[in-house]
Parts: sequence; C-alpha cells; structure tokens
Amino acid sequence: MTNHSAPVQSPPLPSASPVLVSGASFAGLATAFWLNRLGYQVTIVELASGLRRGGTPVDIEGETIGILERMGLFGAVRAKALPPRAFRFKDADDRTLGGIDAATGAEEPSRTRFEIHRDDLLDILFCGINGSVEVLFGRSVKQLEDGPDGVTVTLSDGMRRTFALVFGCDGNRSSTRKLVFGAEENFSHFMGGYVYLKVVPVTGILPPNVSEVFSEPGRTAMLNGYDDRTDICLAFRTAGEIEYDYRDRAQQRAMIHDHFDGLGWKVPTALKHVDADDDFYFDRTNQIRMSSWSKGRVVLVGDAGYCVSPVAGMGGSMAIIGAGRLAQALERHGADYAAAFQDYHEKLHAFVEDIQTRAANEGMATIFPADDAEMAERDRKLRDGKLDL
Ligand SMILES: Cc1cc2nc3c(=O)[nH]c(=O)nc-3n(C[C@H](O)[C@H](O)[C@H](O)COP(=O)(O)OP(=O)(O)OC[C@H]3O[C@@H](n4cnc5c(N)ncnc54)[C@H](O)[C@@H]3O)c2cc1C
Repeated sequence: MTNHSAPVQSPPLPSASPVLVSGASFAGLATAFWLNRLGYQVTIVELASGLRRGGTPVDIEGETIGILERMGLFGAVRAKALPPRAFRFKDADDRTLGGIDAATGAEEPSRTRFEIHRDDLLDILFCGINGSVEVLFGRSVKQLEDGPDGVTVTLSDGMRRTFALVFGCDGNRSSTRKLVFGAEENFSHFMGGYVYLKVVPVTGILPPNVSEVFSEPGRTAMLNGYDDRTDICLAFRTAGEIEYDYRDRAQQRAMIHDHFDGLGWKVPTALKHVDADDDFYFDRTNQIRMSSWSKGRVVLVGDAGYCVSPVAGMGGSMAIIGAGRLAQALERHGADYAAAFQDYHEKLHAFVEDIQTRAANEGMATIFPADDAEMAERDRKLRDGKLDL
C-alpha cells in the first residue's frame, strides 16, 4: 500500500462519503450498520459467495446488550436466545468431575447473559443492513492506495473505486491488515494449540442444553448439546506452530487423529464426525495484538485488529462492541476520522488486552490444560468450586 501517514487533524469528509467495509461477518455487518446510520454510503465486499455460516454460539452479555439495543436489534436477538446451559467436566468413564449447573428452574434465558446461534445473529445483523448498503459477495480487496483524497481500492474482479475510508473487518487472517500494516507474523501470537470445530445435525451424544468437557494432558474434547444439533470441538496443544496447508482438509483430519486416536469418553463418536466430510473449522489458537488499529484512512475492527481467540468465548461480541465503539468515536469527532480512530483505540485497547491476557493464561489452562500440572490445578479448582467459567 502507498502510505501517507495519518494527519493529526484529518480533512473534513463530505457527508454521504463512500466507505468500504471488507468482510461480512459480525464486525463487518455491525460496522456497516453504524456507518449507514451515520450517513455514509456503504459498500461491503465479502470473499465468500454468501454469509459464512457455521460455528458455535455467540455469548451476548454486558456492553453487547446495550449496543444491540441502540441498534434496535436486541428484541430480535433476544427472541433467538438459547436456553441456559449447564457445564460439566467429565472423566474417561463419563463421570462428572464438577462444573456449573444452569440456574435451578430457569427455563428462560437470563436477560443479561445468554447465547445465540452464530447463524441467527448473522441473519439478524444482515437484515439490519439489507437494502441500505451495497454488498459485493465473492470478491476481495487486492490493492489499497491511500492518497490525500481517499483510498483507491482494487478488487479481485478488477473493479477500481475510491473510498473516503476503509474498514478492515476481514477476520483473524485479514488481508486488509496484511496490505496496510504488514505481515501476519508481526501481530499474530500463537497460544500453543489448534482447534477443530464442527456442528452436526445429530442429537443424543449428550443431553440438550449441556456442555461437556473431557481432557487428557494436551488434548481436550468438548461437546455442546442442543435439541437439534451438537457442536464438536477438539483441541490439542503443541509447543510451537505446525506447518500445514490450511486448504488441505485431509491433512487436518490426520492431525486430529494423531492427537485423539485411542482416547476414551465420547472421543470415538466425535472422530466419526471428523471423518464424515470437509465441512469444519480448523485453525491455530492465536491472538492478534497491535499497537494501533488504524493507518491513514484505514481502520481494523474485530478479529482483524484484536482477535481474542475462541478460548475467550467472546470473539463475536467483541466484534460488535468494537463496531459500536468505533461508531461512537466517529459520531463524537464528526468529520475528523483520524481523531475518531485514535479515540476508538484509546478507549478500547485496555479492555481487549485484559480479555486476551485472561484467555491466554487462565482460559487455556482451564479449558485446554497442557500437562499434568495444569490438569491437577484445574481439578483442584473444580473441587474447591473456584473455577471461573
Ligand atoms: C465460518 C466461521 C465459523 C466460525 N466459528 C467459530 C466458532 O465456532 N467459535 C469461535 O469462537 N469463533 C468462530 N469463528 C470466529 C468468530 O466468528 C470471530 O472470532 C468473531 O465473530 C469475530 O468476527 P469478525 O467479523 O471479526 O471475523 P470473522 O467472523 O472471522 O469474519 C471475517 C469475514 O471476513 C471475510 N473475509 C476474509 N478475508 C476476506 C477478504 N480478503 N476480503 C473480503 N472478505 C474477507 C470472511 O469470509 C468472513 O466472512 C468463526 C468464523 C467463521 C468465518
């Protein structure tokens, strides 16, 4: 990218300036929603041919609730809330070692903390912008040239357009970040493991509205039960990063087998689903840490700028919080986008860092214990009722 360093005081943007959002998941859809409300002329470009579905539920709590209320979407989200969920740690013989129960008698999800299926939240956010913004599926940003009058963007189909601002909402492996800030290795922090996730339309592996976790040192199997599906999560720890081809599903399945073959509990059932097809999510557990989320007219939102990892359990809500905070900053600073981007980072980074630190330390040790010592510590906390989930 041709970089012109960020002005201290940015020149005013004309009203209804065209802006580009790269990525149409939680960060992209929520950012597009707010930009549209602020009067910008919004285009979204999404690599996939439609919304990318699948994955485990998203936690809705704390600040996310207030933001969804301000978006006018909380009622729709709340209507899709999942029932309260119990969480149980298991041994190889399926005995319960401990955990937390859903509040006794609570059939209704709490209003202040609940889960929603990832796809339901995507649909609600998409409905919130549909018809008001331009959405270009099946395309991606190939080149960004930041100049005094805007960012000239070249898309994968050759289209060239100039936008006043560009919002990189394209996830953990963000190409906006690569084009503007440099190589992924500069920002990606490996947390010591790999995660496989798959949602299967099968029930009966465990009761509905229950999560079960079984660990051996360095390997964890987790199942989430619902009344119409089961989430399968298999995670293993490694000392360093493993070289693998992210497009080679057979290789990823082989890595899962290397780590899970021979384990007890419900692992053999989970492995049958691993072998069934190529439709799964597999990635290293990592976090994105950056000292700034903007450069010139380009700013990052969600996993692209501050992936907290699946271990934190709040990547989806963090993306919605990030989009909401950025919108507040843009509203506060009017046309001065440089001040708004700086304000967004200053007010949000401590919150992000706190979540990242907890996920990298207690989160990994609790959910994916690496060795006998971490297993023993987790079991001690379980016995003492001191496990923070
Ligand atoms: C299919 C899928 C399943 C997931 N499942 C889980 C899960 O089970 N548990 C969990 O904790 N997290 C999961 N995640 C990650 C989780 O969604 C994010 O941590 C969180 O929602 C943050 O959202 P985001 O919008 O920043 O990033 P993401 O949700 O990762 O979305 C990024 C979007 O950008 C698009 N994109 C990528 N590159 C480009 C490009 N070059 N140009 C244009 N668009 C691009 C992607 O297709 C995607 O739609 C999943 C993500 C995806 C995409």
